Amino acid sequence: MDNCIFCKIISGEIPSQKLYEDDKILAFRDTSPQAPVHFLVVPKEHISGADDITAENCAAIGYIFAKIPQIMRGQGITNGYRIVNNCGEDGGQSVAHIHFHCLAGRGLGWPPG
Ligand code: 5GP
Ligand code: ZN
Repeated sequence: MDNCIFCKIISGEIPSQKLYEDDKILAFRDTSPQAPVHFLVVPKEHISGADDITAENCAAIGYIFAKIPQIMRGQGITNGYRIVNNCGEDGGQSVAHIHFHCLAGRGLGWPPG
């Protein structure tokens, strides 16, 4: 997708600190971490946001949730974590390529602001 920063990270045009990659997904550190461990997981296929998940493209989303525990364990996380998806303007989404924030390493407040 032209002008999508996460597609550019996936292609390597924009550098990132990768934690996990395979043919379907990429996990990389957030440049503005909100917790000691904060990475994003994206499908390599461009899906703009949670509103655009369909029966045809949803397999990658389930696959992401199957991989996150493995990545967390690889980061040494044993005391829990949070997975966040921001969708649309009110949801606080700033990058229109679906991504899951994975946060850990400190107690996380609830509810979010
Ligand atoms: P959103 O606000 O859309 O839920 O989250 C977008 C996230 O992407 C933010 O946490 C922001 O720090 C992160 N981000 C934005 N641009 C870049 C980038 O070029 N590289 C990386 N690694 N993260 C980015
Ligand atoms: Zn994209």
